[in-house]
Amino acid sequence: MDKLGLYVHIPFCARKCRYCDFVSYPVADKDTHLAYALKVILEASEKAQIFGEGCSVDTIYLGGGTPSLIEPGLISEILDSIYTHFWAEDDCEITIEVNPVSQAREKFRAYRSAGVNRVSIGVQSFDPDVLAFLGRPHTAEEAERAVADARAEGLDNINIDLMFGVPGQDLTSWERDLKKALKLAPEHISFYSLGIEEGTPLFEDLLEDRFVEIDEILDRRMYHLAKEILTDAGFRHYEISNAALPGRESRHNLKYWSMDPYLGLGAAAHSYFGGRRFANTSKLTEYMTAVSVSDMTNWAHENTPGDEMSEFVFLGLRRTEGIRFSDFHTSFGRDFWELYGEETEKLIRRGLLERDGDELRLTDLGLDLANNVFSEYV
Ligand code: SF4
Repeated sequence: MDKLGLYVHIPFCARKCRYCDFVSYPVADKDTHLAYALKVILEASEKAQIFGEGCSVDTIYLGGGTPSLIEPGLISEILDSIYTHFWAEDDCEITIEVNPVSQAREKFRAYRSAGVNRVSIGVQSFDPDVLAFLGRPHTAEEAERAVADARAEGLDNINIDLMFGVPGQDLTSWERDLKKALKLAPEHISFYSLGIEEGTPLFEDLLEDRFVEIDEILDRRMYHLAKEILTDAGFRHYEISNAALPGRESRHNLKYWSMDPYLGLGAAAHSYFGGRRFANTSKLTEYMTAVSVSDMTNWAHENTPGDEMSEFVFLGLRRTEGIRFSDFHTSFGRDFWELYGEETEKLIRRGLLERDGDELRLTDLGLDLANNVFSEYV
């Protein structure tokens, strides 16, 4: 049986953070949440009929947006519909993203009884100035309480999201954030550099010179400090922006970098199945009024064999273990060096990639300049 991941997008937030360019709408209205959940349930049933045969589901990821903003009962209904329509494995990894402000012990209890066994908590920082700059809707104390509450409810697989490269942050405050996060004993930490995206309030402020971006060298020093502190604490840095205690890597996210199939449910959700990539409309009204799965799909791309090989390389290189030439040959029946020898030799000479027998991976410098490496394989 093929193993499948399911991603469920819940596109609602209490309000928009200043840096956010994710598909999320500041909608707190419970009727809209209910109607949306019912639509996702319909989509789950239809997608199971189209794609579910011969597949078992071994990961489910409820992301957003802020999934914890909607009633836990709706999360439970969505998961129940997945269990009904798909074949979910007994040890299925089921993650929900939670924002500290919308958490409560009762919610974690409800998630657990609905089958959730992993939570990802959007902490970002414990520094009040950083949280204010980002426009996060919670305090550092609420974030700490959220982690403690999840743990108290028996959730033993917790991720904390942290952000660095934020104007006003320095190495000392970033180190404090990392150490405070470690003190909460999570199994997984994601650490992202702040991106200032066009169309966000932060981008407008930058154009108006209301703040100065952190310089690239400090940003990279923060990144390397995170790697060092997390590795010293026993974490395995397994993907560019992710570290976990051994065995606690996000099985769902690993699918994205390993070319494993997944289906997306909900507005803006992406899927990869049978060599085809496709996505639902990100417009809430269009999603809600779509009469069928094909009606809600607004983008699709049939991967050519060349696309598949290139994705295998640049997605696989996101993992710090990199790719194996033998796996490439098994998957495509082609010799990696025949196809990509020239660009790969060049990247090795520039110190961005290293070869170790059957394996190819990013160097420390390559991790800093990963996008330059990936662009060589696109
Ligand atoms: S909580 Fe996340 S998805 Fe929602 S507005 Fe903030 S950054 Fe965006």
